[in-house]
Amino acid sequence: MKRKLVENLKRVEDRIHAACARADRPRESVTLVAVTKTLTLDVIRTMVDMGFTDLGESRVQELTRRAAAIDEWLGRRARDVAAGAKPRPRWHMVGHLQRNKIKTLLPWVDTIHSMDSLRLAEELHAHGEKTGTVVPAFVEVNVSEEPNKHGVRVAAAFHLVEIIQGLDHLKVVGLMGMAPHTDDADQIRRAFTRLKELHDEIIDERVAGECFRCLSMGMSNDFEIGIELGATHVRIGSALFAGIELAPQAVPTE
Ligand SMILES: *Cc1c(COP(=O)(O)O)cnc(C)c1O
Repeated sequence: MKRKLVENLKRVEDRIHAACARADRPRESVTLVAVTKTLTLDVIRTMVDMGFTDLGESRVQELTRRAAAIDEWLGRRARDVAAGAKPRPRWHMVGHLQRNKIKTLLPWVDTIHSMDSLRLAEELHAHGEKTGTVVPAFVEVNVSEEPNKHGVRVAAAFHLVEIIQGLDHLKVVGLMGMAPHTDDADQIRRAFTRLKELHDEIIDERVAGECFRCLSMGMSNDFEIGIELGATHVRIGSALFAGIELAPQAVPTE
């Protein structure tokens, strides 16, 4: 399993480097978030060992369970000098977030990529206030304008960022968006260009604060286009995990 992971990672890294080179950007300007949703804990431990620093999950229950298990494992390992200490990975919530799950999620999550309504933002702010924390979050925009997709409408995003800016236990770090599920590169490019333009407009109009700099844009199928158009975060699952065993309960439970 580790050999397969190393191979897949090498292939993905080569593609990230090539896309960065085409866009004349340094590799460090892009964070690889490895979306581990269907993997076993054993695979995730191996990844942490290999030096993966940013892990993504689409379900609250999986994220909290895994983050707790990895913390516990790292804690045990810290006492074993020979194994060498590894830093705790950062956990990214990339899937749709329900307000009633916020309380469970917040102690474990480092960044939320899927803030898609004012009510969710207000609730995150309220919990942040209660616990004395500031939650970094991306506003998710439905750039493909497909009715079954999450995210705020393109026309509403600007205003939402403006309002959220006033909530001081929330840190809006940028925008997240998904291209339509297609092999048509032009269609993907159009969706990502729209997100990038919206992002730049928010910065130019000084609607958001200093920390609004990130664009979470690109998955296994389209991350190169995302990087060429300015993505700072790519969320990659299947390209990293092809040929690796999945968790037995890979079926949705929420
Ligand atoms: C699963 C998932 C990903 C990763 O998708 P792949 O196509 O497997 O790379 C990225 N973002 C979100 C929101 C996801 O749910």
